[in-house]
Amino acid sequence: MKILTRNFWQQAGAIAIRKFAPDIQIRGDTLETSCSKKEILARALPELLNKNGKPWAPNVRPFLKQYNQIEKLEKFLEEKKPGGKVCSFCTSRVSTLEKLSLLADPLAVKVENFQSFFSHGSASGEICLDCLFLGIMSGLALFYTSYREGQEYVITYLFPQGKDLEETDKTYRWMKDISEAGGWSNMKVRAKFFPVKPFESLILVFNTLFEKTRFIPRATYRTMQVSSNGNTNTFLSFDSFENVDELMELLKTNESLGGDFSAFMDSFVVIKQPLVDTSMREEMARMILTFKPVEERLQFMIFELERSIRYLYEMIVATNTVKGVNGLDQETIDLCKKAGEIVGNAVFEADSFGDLYSLRNSRSLEDLLLTLSDLEFKYAKEDWKITIPEEFIRILSEDSWKKPKALLVIFAVNKYLARKYASSKNGGEKVAG
Ligand SMILES: [Zn+2]
Repeated sequence: MKILTRNFWQQAGAIAIRKFAPDIQIRGDTLETSCSKKEILARALPELLNKNGKPWAPNVRPFLKQYNQIEKLEKFLEEKKPGGKVCSFCTSRVSTLEKLSLLADPLAVKVENFQSFFSHGSASGEICLDCLFLGIMSGLALFYTSYREGQEYVITYLFPQGKDLEETDKTYRWMKDISEAGGWSNMKVRAKFFPVKPFESLILVFNTLFEKTRFIPRATYRTMQVSSNGNTNTFLSFDSFENVDELMELLKTNESLGGDFSAFMDSFVVIKQPLVDTSMREEMARMILTFKPVEERLQFMIFELERSIRYLYEMIVATNTVKGVNGLDQETIDLCKKAGEIVGNAVFEADSFGDLYSLRNSRSLEDLLLTLSDLEFKYAKEDWKITIPEEFIRILSEDSWKKPKALLVIFAVNKYLARKYASSKNGGEKVAG
C-alpha cells in the first residue's frame, strides 16, 4: 500500500498506521507499507474499541459512529484495483471510488455546513478505498482532552500539521512525549486544573513541552471541538495556531521575569463545588494565542474571579512586549503597577471595594482623573492616604489613557484580593501588602 497524503486528516491516518505497520516508510507526503489494511486494522482494534470490546472507544466514536459494527468497515479493507477513475485525494487511478464522507475527512465541508455535517454525512468528491482507510484510522493519532456536561460529552482534539507528512511525523513525536493513556485525556500537562477546552488545552500543552524541550516546532496546530450526546455529534469549533516564534518569545520573557505560566493560567479557573469552570482560562488562552491585548477584558474578569491572579505582572509584561504586538513598554507597566497598588492598598485598609468599581467604570480620561482625585480627597486624612504618582498621570493622554487605566484597575484589584486572602488566612489580622 502506497498513499499520497493531501490534508491533515489523512496525515493523522498515516501517523496512526505507523504504529501498526512496522515496515512503514514515510517520505515527503507519501507513506508506504507492505502490511495489508486487514492486518493493520486487526492490530489497531484494541485501541479502536471501548473497554467492553464494542465499537467504539469514546475518543474515536464521533468519527466512526455511523459504522456501528466492525463488519461495516470491511468494504474499505479490500485491495484497490487499477482502473480509469481518479481519486480526488491521492490521484491514483482505480476501478471504483467511494463518496467523500465524514469518514475520509470530517473537515471536507464548508464551515457553514459544519454543524449539520454529521447528519448529511457526505461532501463533494470521490475517493479511493485506501484514502478511506486512512480516515478510519485518523482518530487514533489525535491528542484529546474532554469533559462531560449533562448528556453531552465534549471532546477537544489536537493535531500538529507540518509542511509535509514527514515534518508532521517529527512534530507528532515531540508532542507524544507528554501523552499518557487515559479516559478523559491522553495528554499530561503541568496544571493544577486539567484543561478541557481547545485553547487552554493547546497552550498548556505548549507550555509543558516548552519547559521540557525549550522548543516548539513550527507547524499548524489544529484544534477541533466536538460535542457528542450519544445520538448526534456536533462540531463546535475548528481553529488553528501557527505563531510559534512569538509564543516562545512570550514564554521566555515570562520565565526570565520569574513568572510561572501554568500558575498564571490556573488563576482563571473558577471552583464552584463540586464543579470546576475553566471558561475564563479558555478565554485568556485564546487572547494569548491570538496575541490580542488582554487588559480591557482582564479588568472585568478580575472582578469575577474574587481571587488574586498569580504572576500577573510577569504575564502583563510578556504579552505587551512580544514582537509584533503594539504594547506598552515595561517602564510604563511599572508605573501602572505602582499607582494601582497604592489604590489597592488604600481600598483594602478602608475596606471599600466599591471604590474599585467606580475606577473601573470611568468612561473618559476626564472621568478617570476626577475619580482619582476624589479618592485622594476621600482618604486624605488617613494614615494610608492615596497619592497617585505624577509620572503615572503624565502617561495619560486623550489617545492613550484606556490601557494604563485598565492596568491601574487590574493591579489595584489584584493587590486588594491578595491582601484580603492573606488576611483571611491570618484570622482577620491585617498583613502588609
Ligand atoms: Zn486515494
